[in-house]
Amino acid sequence: NGMMKQYEGFTWEQLVERKKKVERKYEIYKNKNFNLDMSRGKPCVEQLNLSNEMYKLGASLDFISEDGVDCRNYGLVDGIVEMKRIFAQILGVSEEEIILGDSSSLSLMYGTIEKAFIHGLYNCEPWKNLKKIKFLCPSPGYDRHFAICELFGIEMITVPMKEDGPDMDMVEKLVAEDESIKGIWCTPIYSNPTGVTYSDEVVRRFATMKTKANDFKIFWDVAYIVHHLYEEQKLLNILDECKKAGNPDRVFIYISTSKITFPGAGVAAMACSVDNARHLRKLISIQTIGPNKINHLLHARFFRNADGVKAHMRKHAEILRPKFELVNSIFEKNLGGLNIAQWTKPKGGYFISLDVPEGCAMEIVTKAQEAGVKLTPAGATFPYGKDPYDKNIRIAPTYPPVEELEQAMEILCTCIELVVLDKILS
Ligand code: PLP
Repeated sequence: NGMMKQYEGFTWEQLVERKKKVERKYEIYKNKNFNLDMSRGKPCVEQLNLSNEMYKLGASLDFISEDGVDCRNYGLVDGIVEMKRIFAQILGVSEEEIILGDSSSLSLMYGTIEKAFIHGLYNCEPWKNLKKIKFLCPSPGYDRHFAICELFGIEMITVPMKEDGPDMDMVEKLVAEDESIKGIWCTPIYSNPTGVTYSDEVVRRFATMKTKANDFKIFWDVAYIVHHLYEEQKLLNILDECKKAGNPDRVFIYISTSKITFPGAGVAAMACSVDNARHLRKLISIQTIGPNKINHLLHARFFRNADGVKAHMRKHAEILRPKFELVNSIFEKNLGGLNIAQWTKPKGGYFISLDVPEGCAMEIVTKAQEAGVKLTPAGATFPYGKDPYDKNIRIAPTYPPVEELEQAMEILCTCIELVVLDKILS
């Protein structure tokens, strides 16, 4: 399955011996009744504490935004200008191209899809009028993107991920010939879960490619755009590229402070062409009188500008870097040279993507669960929750304390060997 020979250099007897050892180790773990949750990419308590100061500002807040709006009251359907400006700086777009929401960018994504179906996006026929809607889904990817497709009955087409983004030859070919392909989900920087950042060439190909559907849309989820673990990585500005290519309305960009300040209590935003934004604002103004502007103001005062966000993210990186490096070193120590696993060493984001031999991922996750380590369900990173090769496991190292993370990863390594040796020797 693309891997080198497993356990190269081991004799059969040595493998049998190794399996016995691994089984003993597994039994010991099982008897310890661990309860370790590694299933979702959540910030840890130390990370959350980094933003507590925001509420101290709250105690002396005047509630009045830069252009004189009383944030305690109704008004401004798409949020206050000083918070728009911060996202605009991060994304390299103008304030008119930004719509602020409440806390969840996922909810803005859902809202866009829903509007695309029911009312139609700017200059587009409502998708509900069409027989079939298909989306391309670069995979492994973010399970909640795929869940939205499932809910709306959008047929998902899996596109493999490469080192520098999705397989663009395949993407271009598919969108050029099938008019029912209306969209694609992308997590173009520190992708969930592969950690991949799309190359400039990939971004340009997205902006310029010919699509059979004239209402083809790119859903560009930059959830991790400021989440560097090491030096800053740059992502080419897709809205600029789309404009240059004469396709300004092709892309919708999503971002939030969920993993900058507080998930569920941060600020989310989307960016798109001025025409797209105007059209959406009209629809949103029927849906709501406005978002939580007090929270916008708190965030804007806390960060001041994009540099404030960057400085804040360096503190997150200090907390997270040791965790990512720990996972890598435990994998290296236990699995290095055995050719039974490959894992990513991401430069940012929230996940490590682990590939085990084909047909083993589900069993490994089950074994881990039985030993008290809860992982993201195998397959979750693929459309319909089905990994065609049953080999990808998403590791979320951010939440658990270091000692728990270490324990969980040692157990996972044991489970990997347990399942793989069992297959080899049976
Ligand atoms: N997008 C990606 C790629 C994510 O990984 C996550 C959370 O894990 C989200 C969006 C959720 O964002 P929000 O909290 O803004 O809804």
